Amino acid sequence: MRIHVEGVFGLPLIHQGDDLPALICEQTKLSDGDILAVASSVYSKAKGYTRRLTDIIPTSRAVRIAERTREDPRFIQAVLDASSDVLLEYPFVLSEVPCGHIGVRAGVDQSNIEDNMVILLPPDPMAAAAEVRDAIRCNTGRSVGVIITDTCGRSFRRGQTGHAIGWSGMTAIRDFRGDTDLFGHILKITEEAVVDEIAGFANFVMGESNNGVPAVVFRNCETWSGHDDLYFNKDEDLIRAMLKSPV
Ligand code: GDP
Ligand code: MN
Ligand code: MN
Repeated sequence: MRIHVEGVFGLPLIHQGDDLPALICEQTKLSDGDILAVASSVYSKAKGYTRRLTDIIPTSRAVRIAERTREDPRFIQAVLDASSDVLLEYPFVLSEVPCGHIGVRAGVDQSNIEDNMVILLPPDPMAAAAEVRDAIRCNTGRSVGVIITDTCGRSFRRGQTGHAIGWSGMTAIRDFRGDTDLFGHILKITEEAVVDEIAGFANFVMGESNNGVPAVVFRNCETWSGHDDLYFNKDEDLIRAMLKSPV
């Protein structure tokens, strides 16, 4: 595989109502089989999945958490409102959002948006990826894969990386189970989270601050097959179970 990776430059500041797929198609020529990674922050801004802090009245729970984390209680309220299950309140809120993704502060961002505003994750990132993919097909006639990304912290390691929170046109996981290694051993457990690997590299090209590169194109990727069960279910997720009810 010789993969060509290219940031999409020249995009403006995105506001609610902007046709993000059309803007991306104006700045880059897409071909069949390309994979387009799009930052969730710009998708959400285009769709208006943002909130103004001055519109938020924090509950007593948000005030209590915010006192401990030393954050704005209105910001914590936005995080709680975006969460379907809170796994940890301190030293930071760690929660699940309705699509199954678990993230610090429910992925609510205060960067790359005006003061006093927050960016929420798209409520249905799988639908978001499918929508961008369909819009690109309408605009260009090209069939591309789309990954909606967010920068996330990780357990056990310092440093954030890009993660896939929605995808369309590929499976999340490349399943190696049943394959044989170089010595003929049958692989029993290896499932590769390819969408996260691509999101991670896309995040490197995007940067975190003022690059202004919210989309990245991967050309000439091999295809793969597998499945979409990226998130552990509750029975499988040992770390989540420990956080919810420590022994
Ligand atoms: P997140 O990882 O999805 O939370 O998004 P980030 O805030 O880290 O932004 C990812 C990339 O998109 C960075 O290069 C930002 O500078 C860029 N970016 C964020 N918002 C905009 C925007 O409205 N317009 C443009 N052109 N770039 C943006
Ligand atoms: Mn983010
Ligand atoms: Mn980021």
